[in-house]
Amino acid sequence: METAVVRRFGGARRRLIEALAERGITDVRVLKAFDDVPRHLFVPTGVQHRAYEDTALPIGYGQTISQPWAHASALAALHLTGRERVLEVGTGSGFQSALLTRLVDQVFSIERVPELATAARDAFRACGIDRVVQRVGDGTLGWPEFEPFDAILVGAAGPSIPEPLRAQLAVGGQLLIPVGETAQQLVRLRRTSVDAWEETCLDPVRFVPLIGRHGFPG
Ligand code: SAH
Repeated sequence: METAVVRRFGGARRRLIEALAERGITDVRVLKAFDDVPRHLFVPTGVQHRAYEDTALPIGYGQTISQPWAHASALAALHLTGRERVLEVGTGSGFQSALLTRLVDQVFSIERVPELATAARDAFRACGIDRVVQRVGDGTLGWPEFEPFDAILVGAAGPSIPEPLRAQLAVGGQLLIPVGETAQQLVRLRRTSVDAWEETCLDPVRFVPLIGRHGFPG
């Protein structure tokens, strides 16, 4: 939907995309997704003027929308083809879910804070996105009705990789999750066969805590 509201901040959006490209994001589909999705519609009005800075911003309820660089590098690391079914744990603002609708076939997203899930749904509507299947609940349990997932993206840091998420990953699929409490690392888990997983530590990161049955206590 190309309304004036959606088109605002066009210059700032282009500068952000250029900055992401300069920092090493070469996947043109990822960069195009950042052009298609108006980040300013996914943050509270008080911080809209900062929506195209490469920084995390508060979205209420003690949560944050991740830094654009964090979203871009995670999505680029997955080498998505467009055919995937993806599970996102921690809808938050909904911005990454919206990016995913531009990059994969099916997007499932779970958020534990009902008010954030509602705000995300409203943001999807405002920019004409109707392909995110949302649920309010504990994402550390995954979403058994729709497994297996070709990719699982966890947007909050857990004490370890939740077992249900490991089990719901398709063979050949990848899971990205920040692990740790004060010192966190982004971990990539690939499922190489029905009973084998390969774990790689990527960059040090900083995320809000993953709270749930297979996360930290609430
Ligand atoms: N990619 C999102 C990240 C938001 S922050 C964005 O950029 O907007 C992470 C989100 O995970 C928060 O909204 C938090 O409420 C949520 N969260 C934490 N633990 C969760 C759980 N067990 N299940 C689902 N969501 C959870």
